[in-house]
Amino acid sequence: MLDLTSEAALIVVSNRLPISLRRGRDSLVVERSAGGLVAALDPALRRTGGTWIGWPGMRLRESEKLPSVDEAYTITPVPMNDNEVRRYYHGLSNGALWPLFHSFPERTRFDRRDWEIYESVNERFAQVTADELTRNCLVWIHDYHLMRVGPHLRRRCPNQRIAFFLHIPFPSYDIYRTLPWYREVLIGLMACDQVGFHCPGYVRNFLDCAERLLGARVDRDKNLVQFGARTVRADAFPLGIDYEGHERRARSAPHSARRDSHKVILGVDRLDYTKGIPGRIRAFERLLEVYPEHRERAVLIQVAVPSRGQVAEYQALKREIDELVGRVNGRFATSEWSPIRYLYRSVSPERLASLYRDADVALVTPLRDGMNLVAKEFVASQTEDPGVLVLSRMAGAAESMHEALMVNPYNIDGVANSLHQALTMDFQDRANRMRALQRRERRHDLHAWLEGFLSAASGPAAQMRPTALQDFDLWLSPYLRSDLQLALFLDYDGTLTPIVSHPSQAVLDDETRELIQRCGARSDTDVSIVSGRKLDDVRSLVRLPGITYAGNHGLEIVGPGIESFSHEDVPHYQKRIASLAQELEHICIEGAWVEEKGASLTLHLRALSHLDQRSLDSRARELILEAGFQVREAHCALEARPPIGWDKGHAVLYVLRERYGPAWSENVRTIYAGDDRTDEDAFRVLSGLGVSFRIGNTDTPTQATRQLPDVESVKTLLRWLASRPEAPQG
Ligand code: UDP
Repeated sequence: MLDLTSEAALIVVSNRLPISLRRGRDSLVVERSAGGLVAALDPALRRTGGTWIGWPGMRLRESEKLPSVDEAYTITPVPMNDNEVRRYYHGLSNGALWPLFHSFPERTRFDRRDWEIYESVNERFAQVTADELTRNCLVWIHDYHLMRVGPHLRRRCPNQRIAFFLHIPFPSYDIYRTLPWYREVLIGLMACDQVGFHCPGYVRNFLDCAERLLGARVDRDKNLVQFGARTVRADAFPLGIDYEGHERRARSAPHSARRDSHKVILGVDRLDYTKGIPGRIRAFERLLEVYPEHRERAVLIQVAVPSRGQVAEYQALKREIDELVGRVNGRFATSEWSPIRYLYRSVSPERLASLYRDADVALVTPLRDGMNLVAKEFVASQTEDPGVLVLSRMAGAAESMHEALMVNPYNIDGVANSLHQALTMDFQDRANRMRALQRRERRHDLHAWLEGFLSAASGPAAQMRPTALQDFDLWLSPYLRSDLQLALFLDYDGTLTPIVSHPSQAVLDDETRELIQRCGARSDTDVSIVSGRKLDDVRSLVRLPGITYAGNHGLEIVGPGIESFSHEDVPHYQKRIASLAQELEHICIEGAWVEEKGASLTLHLRALSHLDQRSLDSRARELILEAGFQVREAHCALEARPPIGWDKGHAVLYVLRERYGPAWSENVRTIYAGDDRTDEDAFRVLSGLGVSFRIGNTDTPTQATRQLPDVESVKTLLRWLASRPEAPQG
């Protein structure tokens, strides 16, 4: 458990820094940024010390340093060029993730090149973060721009405590799965220890997606996800506001000289299509149509803060709002009264406080919003005659602000009716509702949010209960059939035995051997061991008769009921592999070594540091390719494989066809368990036809149906398979 009140430091990673830069006449000018996130995190960082990592908002020249800022913590910029800003920020973050996560799939623009830059910028954030780590610190990553920092940081610092908070909604499974990189983004969050969302609904969506799209194991009572060997905790931490600050500002904000005799309905938003501004204007128009008593008595003040103005969609939205405002004003205005005052600009905090305080109704009608702080700021600013909050059910804030008048922003008549109700509500009802809202927001303010998140993120690491027999009841019972044979394929290293520093130490334990034997002895189950090791090697390690062995990734296969197989090109490559082995041995540094396996070889890198692995890896790849072999990545190893289009997937299909005939998929159920990339070939050929399990951690997408944490959970699988009821013979 980290104690963030003592020597532990906080490292905040967000797209933007708490400062912005401007190029002055001959130097860079630093300005502190306003905004909720800065207001929340700045005090925490001041207390714990630490670092804020982010993009400074402009391009620094070569060797240009950030001017020193008098901060109690370090500010570390992540540089970005214009193309990166275009593709990572405008493209993938705001053109794909923003609309998708707000449930506007028709507005998404998916471009592979945007994704590639998003990935590389996220990796750069991870590298800068890794360089800043101190002993005993918590890394806190923020928001949808940085959902891939986790795995890059985890690879560099496997034991680092990493937390993540998403400031926008997490969409439902049906919407989320349209993202072409849905696996990568989810896996990005799986590298974190604690993931926070605004609302329990977003947590549920995230758990659903992890379970259905990654095959992760989920505990919905404790909000835990197990992905490979990692357990991630996902909880709701509803963001609050600096309540006292807003209240104070409202008490001292100026009153306008001419107090308006009109009832004021207030809308305050960034100009964004998620905010539902056109629908809001239409609802106000409907109010004036249906309830003419509000004509000349009510005004709608709409503040629209310019946002993402260089994007065509936002320009079109601005035109639409301009036209609507013109239409309603043209239709209803009199010489004394104009129904809509539209301010397309940002307003000062003092002016905003006056607007909030003096409004009779806050009309907050986003089509979708992660939280919505305007609703909360309005409530905190109601220091005088209590107003009424009309709030969209689609805002995260609606999950807790129960005393607001809730509306569906897509139902224009409904919003108009609620507006009428708000404008005509008696004092007592308004006061009661507002008091309850204020009490809650005062208690659940920004500081409470911060404390809640940090104490969860620095608390004891989450532990998922071990995989149990009932998990396999759930996963396998609906699939297996008592009248069909089961073909069970098992990889060896990392699946039946833990990964160890030398392959000779990977010895099968007696219990696992006995479980395999019991599975193989059943009349309804046929077992195959599929390994990258030499055939003789894997056979002598397992030492069980009556089962099938595929060695060298399936280039050699023997077993009952199938014709022994050795790929015809093997002898040709056996000769060439010997000279490649020599060349690789030549470049090996201490700790690396070459294992010759007949037609293929493995270069083992496990004992090397991350840095040494990377440098040897790239030189080895070149040699392998020059020698005419293919490079495959395995667990901390590189494999040189003959380019003969044969892999574990082909081996599995060969065994299935030989044993059960060409129509095997109608006669047999298939289960495959494996732990590394070479097993992905088998997962791929079996996808949709069988059930596959990927064992252990992976930070790359897998084709397997499900994830299992470790070798121990494979034993539980074998125990379940060995002891399930057997169909009566005959
Ligand atoms: N706001 C602002 N300048 C303005 C009007 C509003 O900075 O001229 C602030 C407002 O006080 C609130 C934030 O913008 O804190 C809007 O937050 P919200 O959660 O409602 O929406 P977001 O823009 O984050 O989607």
